Amino acid sequence: MKDIKVTMLGTGSPYPALHRAASAQLLQIDDMNVLIDCGQETTSQLQRIGVEPQDVHHLWFTHLHSDHTMGYFQFLIGGWHLGRRKLSVVGPKGIKEFHETVLKMYEDDINYRTSLGFPAEGIHDVEIYEIEEPGDIPAGDIPAKVTSAPMIHNVTTYAFRFEIDNTVIVFSGDSSPTQHLTDLSENADLLIHDCVLTAKEKAENTNLDTIWEKLQKEHCTPAQAAETAKQSNTKRLLLTHFLPSIDEEHVESEVRRVYDGELILGQDLQTVDLTKKTVTTL
Ligand SMILES: [Zn+2]
Ligand SMILES: [Zn+2]
Repeated sequence: MKDIKVTMLGTGSPYPALHRAASAQLLQIDDMNVLIDCGQETTSQLQRIGVEPQDVHHLWFTHLHSDHTMGYFQFLIGGWHLGRRKLSVVGPKGIKEFHETVLKMYEDDINYRTSLGFPAEGIHDVEIYEIEEPGDIPAGDIPAKVTSAPMIHNVTTYAFRFEIDNTVIVFSGDSSPTQHLTDLSENADLLIHDCVLTAKEKAENTNLDTIWEKLQKEHCTPAQAAETAKQSNTKRLLLTHFLPSIDEEHVESEVRRVYDGELILGQDLQTVDLTKKTVTTL
């Protein structure tokens, strides 16, 4: 039986917050580490849970918004510095150009480091896989079947379903409600779901007034996430992508009107162990 864990490295948003780093999750299948998104702080968060970045050889991007990608260069060059010589990156169309642009931006820096004797492997030969269309994605040496589905966001965004033996974990990425996510999440053991739209945030933050209507076309409320979990018969719903000052009680009561499965309000450095069936926070 495999040991399967998901750790929330960042449960925040584009609004910087000390207690919530931007979006990133670590899926661990025995000693295989798969990073899902790479927002700011990802590398330090990995180190906080005792995982060195050079031991992560797989990174999957749901989409290329800054709050899901800003930590990429640090992860890329930091892991390489520490000895990673192989990395594969999966993401929507544009991921290749994104990676090459990052290399170009830091070209002089990387050349300096290779002149010191750091090898080209692990930085100049990163394998990039661009998702052309939703559906099954080759998972390489990851012991899982991976399926993607298109989300409703303002850039191309994919949710990912990882099936590891009989365990199913779904990462929604960012989206407003969509039947595609309900279908992808069928009978999931764990659904990690975007929950940007919490009412207290709107009430307290006048900055949000002007964009709230637009955000509703691109993200979910707790009740909408709960509806997807209910319709898909998901066992555990983990809400994430929170703005800085959510009212947890309110979020919970909104969910509870719809969904009676296990609910986890995401926290940074929180680990869901799907084998031991425990939830712990560092
Ligand atoms: Zn986004
Ligand atoms: Zn986001």
